This record gives sequence, C-alpha cells and structure tokens, in this order.
Amino acid sequence: MLGFPQAPSLGCRGLPGPGALDAAGTRCSAPAPQLPAPPRPLHPETPESSGAAFAACPARTGPDSRADGSHWPWQGCLFPAGHGAGQKSAGFCPVLNFSLTSSFVEKQQSHKKGRGRRGSCARKRRRRASEEGRSRGAEAGRAGPERASLDMRCLSGAWRAAAPRLPAPWRSPRCRGSAAGPAARKSVPYEKTLREAGSGSGEPSRPPPRSAEVVVVGGGSLGCQTTYHLAKQGVTSVVLLERDRLTSGTTWHTAGLLWQLRPSDVEVELLAHTRDVVSRELPAETGLHTGWVQNGGLFIASNKQRLDEYKRLMSLGKVYGVESYVLTPSQTKDLYPLMNIEDLYGTLYVPKDGTMDPAGTCSTLARAAAARGATIIENCPVTGIQVRADDFGVRRVHAVETAHGTIQTPCVVNCAGVWAPALGRLAGVHVPLVGMHHAYVVTERIEGIQNMPNVRDHDASVYLRLQGDALSVGGYESNPIFWEEVSEKFAFGLFDLDWDVFMKHIEGAINRVPVLEKTGIKSTVCGPESFTADHKPLMGEAPEVRGFFLGCGFNSAGMMLGGGCGRELAHWIIHGRPEKDMYGYDIRRFHHSLTNNNRWIRERSHESYAKNYSIVFPHDEPLAGRNVRKDPLHEELLRQGCVFQERHGWERPGWFSPGGAAPVLDYDYYGAYGRERHKDYTYNRLLGDEYTFDFPPHHDIIKTECLTCRTALALFDMSYFGKFYLVGPEATKAANWLFTADVSKAPGSTVYTCMLNQRGGVESDLTVSRISPGAPASPLAPAFEGDGYYLAIGGAVAQHNWSHITAVLQDMKLQCKLLDCSEELGMMSIQGPLSRVVLQEVLDTDLSNEAFPFSTHKLVTAAGCTVRAMRLSFVGELGWELHVPRADCVKVYQAVMQAGARHGIANAGYRAIDSLSIEKGYRHWHADLRPDDTPLEAGLAFTCKLKSSIPFLGREAVEAQKANGIFRRLVCFTTEEKVPMFGLEAVWRNGEVVGHIRRADFGFAIDRTIAYGYIRDPAGGPVSLDFVRSGSYELERMGVPYPAQAHTRSPFDPDNQRVKGIY
Ligand SMILES: Cc1cc2nc3c(=O)[nH]c(=O)nc-3n(C[C@H](O)[C@H](O)[C@H](O)COP(=O)(O)OP(=O)(O)OC[C@H]3O[C@@H](n4cnc5c(N)ncnc54)[C@H](O)[C@@H]3O)c2cc1C
Repeated sequence: MLGFPQAPSLGCRGLPGPGALDAAGTRCSAPAPQLPAPPRPLHPETPESSGAAFAACPARTGPDSRADGSHWPWQGCLFPAGHGAGQKSAGFCPVLNFSLTSSFVEKQQSHKKGRGRRGSCARKRRRRASEEGRSRGAEAGRAGPERASLDMRCLSGAWRAAAPRLPAPWRSPRCRGSAAGPAARKSVPYEKTLREAGSGSGEPSRPPPRSAEVVVVGGGSLGCQTTYHLAKQGVTSVVLLERDRLTSGTTWHTAGLLWQLRPSDVEVELLAHTRDVVSRELPAETGLHTGWVQNGGLFIASNKQRLDEYKRLMSLGKVYGVESYVLTPSQTKDLYPLMNIEDLYGTLYVPKDGTMDPAGTCSTLARAAAARGATIIENCPVTGIQVRADDFGVRRVHAVETAHGTIQTPCVVNCAGVWAPALGRLAGVHVPLVGMHHAYVVTERIEGIQNMPNVRDHDASVYLRLQGDALSVGGYESNPIFWEEVSEKFAFGLFDLDWDVFMKHIEGAINRVPVLEKTGIKSTVCGPESFTADHKPLMGEAPEVRGFFLGCGFNSAGMMLGGGCGRELAHWIIHGRPEKDMYGYDIRRFHHSLTNNNRWIRERSHESYAKNYSIVFPHDEPLAGRNVRKDPLHEELLRQGCVFQERHGWERPGWFSPGGAAPVLDYDYYGAYGRERHKDYTYNRLLGDEYTFDFPPHHDIIKTECLTCRTALALFDMSYFGKFYLVGPEATKAANWLFTADVSKAPGSTVYTCMLNQRGGVESDLTVSRISPGAPASPLAPAFEGDGYYLAIGGAVAQHNWSHITAVLQDMKLQCKLLDCSEELGMMSIQGPLSRVVLQEVLDTDLSNEAFPFSTHKLVTAAGCTVRAMRLSFVGELGWELHVPRADCVKVYQAVMQAGARHGIANAGYRAIDSLSIEKGYRHWHADLRPDDTPLEAGLAFTCKLKSSIPFLGREAVEAQKANGIFRRLVCFTTEEKVPMFGLEAVWRNGEVVGHIRRADFGFAIDRTIAYGYIRDPAGGPVSLDFVRSGSYELERMGVPYPAQAHTRSPFDPDNQRVKGIY
C-alpha cells in the first residue's frame, strides 16, 4: 500500500541549501535546511548505545517473562537483560578482548608479504580445514582464556612476520600459515547468541506432532519470520523444525543491517515491513525488545552517477514516506566527523535506517509465534520429504520425516538457507542457489564512532556498520569463495577469513574512515550465505511439487527482507498468491531448463555478487550465463550488429549497432580466479557506454529504429516468445476460466487478454488464438481432440505463465493439456505502414483489411514454407507476426528482408519495442501491469468479459472493484522538457505526492518523454478520470520537479487508426 509521505521540507525540493548539490551536481544557493540532529539510537539506554552488543531482552520485565509476568510458550533461548547503560564497550566481545591487536595497516602489509607464499592448494586445504562445522565453530566461540592467548600469540606472530624488524621465530610459516592467515579470532560481535541458550542434549525440544497444516524447515531469519506471519495470519497448526538451535545457520552471524531505500518499489515496501516488525510490532506484541537499533544510514557517492542514483532513491522514498537527505561533503563531515570527505561527491542520509540483532529478532519472533499457537522444535533435523502423486498424476507434498518422527502435512516451506538445495533434493525440487563465504571484520573500540550511522560506500564495495563503539567492516569482492561442499554438520560455524580475498575491503574502509588505519581488528566473521543468479531470493511454490514452498536464497539481505518476505510467503501459502508483486522473487521466474543448469547458476551468482554494489543503471545486461537459449535467427542477426539482451536464458535483440557484430563471449569472471579478462570486448564496451542516467549514447540509433517502424517498416525478431498450445476436450472450459476476454470464438480469431489471480490482480497479458486441429507432432498446427488455443507470451515471463496455467488446470482437474512449442517455433513481427506492401510479396494470401482483418490469423505460405500469420501489433502499427517452424526461420527472414529492402526495412530490437509500445500506450507486464494491479486500475477493462455471464478467475474481485470504485489508476504523463526518465520518479499532484512512475521512456514520434504511473487520491477517495484531468502534475526526477501533462488516452494515435491500416 502506498503511504503518503511527509516529505522533508528542503530547499530545491529535497536538496539541502548552501553547499548542497543540485541535480546537475552544481551548488544550490538556497538557505541551508535544518538537518536532523545527529542520529540517536531508538533506545538510548540499550547496551548498543553504550557500546555493548545487544541481545533481545524484555523491555520492562525479567528475561524470560512477558511484560505481564507470565511465561512464554516457547521456552527457547532466555536472554539476560543485557548490560547496563553505563557499561563500557571495550568488552562487547569479552572472549576476544585481546590486549594485543594489529592495525589495519599491519594486516595489509602482512597480507601483501604473505600472499606470494600462500598457494591456492594451501588455501584449499585451509578452507577444508575451516569447514569443520559445529564442533570447531563452537569451540572458537567458547574458547577460554588459555586458548585465546594461544591464538593471540599465533596471530601476533603472523602480524610481526610482516615486519622485517621482527625476529625469525615470528616468521614461522606454521603460525602465519594458519587457516586464518594474519587474522584475529573468529567470533560474532554479539553479546549473546542462541547457541549458549541450548540444553546441549541434542534431543528435540519437544516431540514432533503427527500432523500440521504447514511445516517450516529452518529456524533462521526466514523460518522464524514466516512462522510468525503464518501464525499471525491465522494458521495455528504450523510447526517450525530446526536441525540445531534457532539462528544456527547463517543468521547468527549476520551483520543485521537494514537500509530502507532500494531501487524497487516492492523492496522498499518489504523493507518497511521488516523495520516495522522489529521496531514496533514485536515489542508491542511481546513486551520484548528485539535489539533493533536506529542509528541511521549513510550512502557514499564518489561520483556524479552514484549521487544521481541516490537522488532517484530519495525521490522514490518520498512516495513511501522514507525520510532521506542528499548531503554535501561538508554536511557529511558535520554528521560523521571521522569520515574522509576528500573524494566525496555527496551522500544520501537516511536517518531511520538501523540494525537488527539476529538472536533478539528470531527469539522474539519465535515467542510471538508460539504465543499464537505455532510449535517451534529445535534439534529436529528433517531427513525426508514424502511426495505422492494424486489421481491426476500431480506430485504433492504428503509428509515430512524427521529424525524423531513423521509429520503428515500438505505444505512444507524450505527456509533452510544454504542447505535449501539439499532439502529440495529430498522432494525432487531444484533450488538454484550457491553457497559462498561472506565476511566482515570487527574492529577494536574507536573513539568518536559512537552513534554514527551505518555507512555503505558502494564505489569502494564496502560497508561500515556501527557495533557499539566499534565498526564491523564488510563488502562484496570480485572473487568470492564458493562453498563447494556444503556440510550438514555446520551449526554456529564460521570459516577462516581469507585475507587475499578480503583485503580490498580494508583498503576501502581505511580510505573512508582513516582512523581505522590505527585501529585493531578484534574478530573476523566469515560465514556461509546463499546467492542466486539474479541476486534476488527464491520464493513461492516450486513448479515440480505442489505444496513445496521456497523461502531461501537471500543474497546477504535475509535479515532486512525477512519480515516483508515472511509476510508475503505466509499470504502465498494461505491464499495461493502473495499480496504484493513478488514476481521478481518467485521461483517460477526461472525457466525450468535453468534451475538445474550449474554453469548458469554459478556464473550468474558470481556476477551478481561481484556487482552487488554497482550502480543499477536503466540499461545493463549480464555478461555471465549467456548464450544458453538462442533462437533460430541468432547468428543471422549477430552478423548484422545485433546487441543482444538476456532474458531468463534467452538471447533477444536489444538494438542494432552500426559498428558491426558484438558477440557475447564466454564469461571471464571479470578476471577473478586467475582467469584472463577479455580484451577489446566490444559487447562489454557497448554496455559500458550506456552506464548513465542521461539519454544513452545509442539514443539516436534507437530513434532511427523507431522512426523507421513509424514511417516505413521494421522487422522485430520476437522468437524468444513462449508459444504454448492449450488443447483437449475441456480446453474451452479452461480458457473461459483462465482468460478475462472471451477467446472461445471461431478458429482464426486472435484475442488480447489478461489472466488474473483470485484478487483480480493481473498475472499475465497475452494473445490467445483459437486454432483448428492439424497434423500430429506439428509445432505449427498440432493434432488434438476437442478444442485448441495457441498462446503467445513474452519469453521472459513464459515460465511464470506456464506455471500459473498448470496450477489452475491441476486445481480445476480439467481434461486438457498444455504443450510447449517455444523452442520449435520462431516468431518475427513486421510492423509499419509499408508492412502490407512488403509482406504481400512474400505471403501467398490476400492481406487486405477485408481478407485479413486485425486480430485474426491464418496458416499461409511464405517463401515456400508454411507459417502462421497473425495480424497484430505490439507497437501500434499495421503489421503481422509470422510464427515459423525453427528450420524455416532464416529462409523466411531473408525473403522478408529482401522484399523490404526497396522500402527501407530495418531490423529493430526490444529497445525500440519499449519506446514504441509506451508511446502507443500498450502495457508491459511486470512494469506497468503487475499481479498487484487490476485490469480496471490499468485501463484494461476492455479485456474483461463482464458483459457476458461466463465466470473467470478473478471476476468477482473485478466486479467488486467496479461497484466500489477505483482507488488507484494508471496514468500516462508526458513532459515538455526532453528529460530522460526510467521509472521510480515521484508523481506530484497539486503539490502532494500521489504515486510514482513504473515505466518511462522517450517517444520519438511525439518527441516527448512518456511516463506511466499509478496515482491515488491522498484524501482516500476514488480516482476518477475527472480526478486525473483536474490535477496539476510534476514528475520528480532525482529531486528536481518537471511539469507534466496527464493523459487519459494515449497521446499517440488515440483512435487506433494505424493498426487498422488507416494512415
Ligand atoms: C557476513 C554476513 C553478513 C550479513 N549481513 C547482512 C546484513 O547486514 N543485513 C541483512 O539483511 N542480511 C545480512 N546477511 C544475510 C543474512 O544474514 C541471511 O540472508 C539470513 O540470515 C539468511 O537466513 P535464512 O533463514 O535464509 O538462513 P539460515 O539462517 O541459514 O537458516 C537456515 C536454517 O535451516 C536449518 N536447516 C538446514 N537444513 C535443515 C534440515 N534438514 N532440517 C532442519 N533444519 C535445517 C539450518 O540449521 C539453519 O538454522 C549477512 C550474511 C553474512 C554471511
């Protein structure tokens, strides 16, 4: 839900005054705004504020009782009340309170000297030795003074070895070669972890019940959040099974940072919920403090691009009421005196960011869940998942086997973190994630660091988290270590830190906070974390097994996303779909051929990790995991300069470079792991040229492609489309239920339609063509009994559509089949005023309006090949799509290009489609049309067969909305000024924020920036067309408002003349 902000009242709308930077990076002259006071923790009396790490403790009463004095139903870890307010922080990690520590610089020297002598074999040996799991990890944390001093001697030896003046014994390779290298001890900086709370008996904390509605596996951040939200949403028969103790996987050693702003509206909402859960909801519900500390967050920009990115975040933040300020270097210095600002361009300060405590959060969640009837069982490993096929052959979860008994259940939630693939294998489900080492180091006390905000220096790829009166320093390196053999026995474990890998962060941290050069490192924290191909989590029901849900793959954001994702997952399980648009996290976004493709998963996960702190530019493509799915025209288009985009394995044309071929090469891991970097890599250079928030340098090339389509004709290779057949005796019954439009017309018709979920949200938009039966095994016209429909769906979302339709057919138990012919058929779309003239030369059929009207299709012959021609347009022009068997694609393509040559035909790519389609007002699913938008809100009421009596999925919700009024509406805006916009800009109406832009681009025919966004009435009333028309609008881009005009019809060809062939 959109919240309406109390936007901070700053000069230059959101920009601070004297010395402040305006959008162009120049200085504003408006008076300085009053910055908020230096950040203060929410709970100044908590140990965190006095330097001691905090463990969850009751706010008012004893450690194991509620505010009212009664006991908690879940008797897990009992927290001491923490330290008193006056406690000094030097002891925040008592076991590791060394008297001798090395400075950052010493470590650096030591690292550099030692590097040459430490071969990769030795490193592997060390790594293996360090992965011993619980016993060793536990030992490190439990070590008494004797052991600590031994390690200390060894460590100090390693450090001294770096200094030439030291005597020989200190250079002992044995010491230096310890797995830790020149490191401090391994230990988390938390005062309490849940390890200490255990009985240590190894027995389950209670016997597993015989049955449950839902079984959640894994007691980390996600398992606890999901269990809590399931219980909160009314599922009382929910069991959480944890193999060891809660948090024992990754969660116990998390850094726990929570930043509120990310370049995604959904993620901003998810983060806001987590923050609300830990800072307000749980304390209010339980009387316990979760350990939340609100010390603020500071994002560092060392260049204009980065500051531009932050300004985009600031504008989005205003839509959600997230307070943020762009600060000049000197304002930053005032806020954070220890910071080096010499190389600073500016910063973004978010005062209400903060830090979560893992033990405090999870134990409070568990208690709150238990109080609502959930059962939490520790020391209870899951050893098997029983899956049974139902009468229709659909595989469904039947039971969960544990070491201590079997629980009958229809629903399992895999929150097993880095162990999720192993748990998935028990059910035959692929979980495409990899485990990697992820680390931070904890410093000694730093004078003057108290109460400073957490810092994210993206350009240095490093973060600095306040830890009492010290800092935790971590980041993302380009050569992360994969955890190759994930050990089952790893609980409360840590790896030894590999300084070869980590040292780069030290350099970045010292540059930002120079006092670190003289500060000792108290401990290192290097643990396992899961990473995925696109750096987004894996959630939702697995396509392989009904009732098997995923809640894993959190890419080092599982604490901050935990609350939002836990709530969505609970909703998903209970209602079949999440409340928000979770497509970006849905396991069904990945094509099934990718979830088991190790090369793809590994390469992409590596790149996503390495680029985690890179600026998210509007136009970028991965270099990893490419060329996995190529369409039949790939080589032909490559020769002609096609610059490809990657969409879920497919290579699709982005745009055409006049500079010639720009092939995508095998992934070089950016030179990591000793690989040689590609030199003179044209494709990579072309991507890099577009790293800007201005109009990209290829703007004029896209313009030519667009205008060629508008004035002559262009050929778009759309072969990556999903092409499915829905056939069988009950295919029409299925089609009636699935599709909002009436598609059960005579064979030969083609209909644009939506598919909805129960709440009326749009799960897909697609075209459906009624077909007649053909020959067996023909990809163009298959044989079938009953009725048949041909579905064409954007390739990036094809798997999502497949899963949606399959689930509905299974739930309805309908007698029909869904066939996938995506790989067997190519598809080219020829669009533009001259398309009829050209195609008439190639096709053996009359293309006149009378003989071949809009929204129809036919099997015809083109260049001697049978193809399905379909009169449709994605760009608002006269045009046809040709659906062609794979083997014939090149032949048909060449025939069209040859015939079109005399008329100025051009190849065009998806960049042109993006611009042309938004200009015409066509929706893009998952941009301006999502599962949280209804057809009425999106202006697609015409796709709903409400005048008929045919029931369809989501109909009741759409009818209810129609009756009750529309409270948000998609609106088209254009700006007079030619300013690049890409989405996320805030929409102001009569001086109030009313929404944000979902999709924006430049329309070359109308020569305007075009932007689409949903708006609301701040007063809560319905959003009628009159409401839209009566407002005065501005679109805020990077803090700068641009006057905008709202349109209730597309500004380009509003009467649809062109698609009818009327020019
Ligand atoms: C160094 C580091 C710093 C980080 N910093 C941040 C940060 O600042 N902010 C942030 O948001 N995130 C951060 N993260 C990431 C965050 O900590 C993780 O994303 C999150 O803790 C993952 O939680 P989880 O519940 O998915 O997995 P886990 O915590 O690993 O929980 C999975 C649980 O499943 C259990 N399990 C596995 N198999 C079985 C089985 N067969 N039966 C029963 N139980 C089983 C395990 O024992 C484990 O307890 C960081 C991670 C690391 C490593």
